[in-house]
Amino acid sequence: MLVPFNKPYMSGRELHYIAQAHAAGKLTCDGEFAKRDHAWLEKSIGCKKALLTPSCTAALEMAAILCDIHPGDEIIMPSFTFVSTANAFVLRGGIPVFVDVRSDTLNIDEKKIESAITAKTKAICVVHYAGVGCEMDAIMDIARRHSLFVIEDAAQGILSKFKNTPLGSMGHLAAVSFHETKNIQCGEGGALLINDSQFIKRAEIIREKGTNRSQFFRGEIDKYSWVDVGSSYLPSEITAAFLFAQLEESENITQKRIDIWNTYHDAFEILERAGEVRRPFIPKHCQHNGHIYYLLLSDLEQRTKFIDFLKSQGVNSIFHYVSLHKSIAGEKYAKIFNGTKNTDMASECLVRLPLWMGVEQYQAKIIDLAHKALKIN
Ligand SMILES: *Cc1c(COP(=O)(O)O)cnc(C)c1O
Repeated sequence: MLVPFNKPYMSGRELHYIAQAHAAGKLTCDGEFAKRDHAWLEKSIGCKKALLTPSCTAALEMAAILCDIHPGDEIIMPSFTFVSTANAFVLRGGIPVFVDVRSDTLNIDEKKIESAITAKTKAICVVHYAGVGCEMDAIMDIARRHSLFVIEDAAQGILSKFKNTPLGSMGHLAAVSFHETKNIQCGEGGALLINDSQFIKRAEIIREKGTNRSQFFRGEIDKYSWVDVGSSYLPSEITAAFLFAQLEESENITQKRIDIWNTYHDAFEILERAGEVRRPFIPKHCQHNGHIYYLLLSDLEQRTKFIDFLKSQGVNSIFHYVSLHKSIAGEKYAKIFNGTKNTDMASECLVRLPLWMGVEQYQAKIIDLAHKALKIN
């Protein structure tokens, strides 16, 4: 019996809502369910405007267009992240400038950002790893002083908070993901969150293939046409209906994930005390959402043995990430700014344990195997 690394949760109302959308017969984007999703996001996260997108990747691409990234512009970001954080800007000719992460939270080291700023820097794209907030006060302050845009890659950050403020509500723009592996999911999906209202009108145009169709549908203009660059960043109403069944349950889902996270955290305290592993660090002013439970092992060799041992016993654990500065495209399109020590450590030593709704029944086994794996190695 194999314990999967992830198993998407279903609230049970997904098909019911899809049937309602089907009966209503309007399946393009921004129907009744999309409106409910937008309202939920605006209320729960507190952004000025939320727009559903086909993915977080698409929302990041929209953010890059909105920030007017031109060839040669630099965007400061961590290398310890998913591909899309960087790729969205590279598509506009931007150059990702990688700043190392902090050794404790594995988020971008806010103290190293300022020295990476040049005349070409246009934006800072932060990633809230494992749904734990970056140091947003310091980061927004740097951005203000240097007139830079801040984009929050909050793909993993739904319903997390930094100093009681929801992730995704602090940067000029933010992107969340509803990919099947995320806390709240609809298979493939995401949203662009806008906190600086100067971007709202253009975001609607970019999302509608560069046309002012959104204004036309609201009756603000009498015909619509091509007015700017854009693409089709619209998910269908079927996706929006599925998503609403998850958003409704999101507080519940988050609490259950935090419970699972806490069970792991308690079980590994003894190993951390013995100096065998490092557990996730959550700053006191951060409230996380139980997105990822990870352990930091001693080195790559130990981690490989750990993952292999768990797999031989029927449990799938995985590492995170192949850091971008070591990837083929990263070497080609991005620059490293002074050092990758903590990025390399995380990328070589981090292992993620299965964390999904229902994994509770296997948790004792997983914990036991993790203890055994560390004794053997
Ligand atoms: C999952 C993830 C993405 C991509 O999300 P999609 O919805 O699959 O496009 C981007 N950034 C980070 C940090 C992620 O974890």
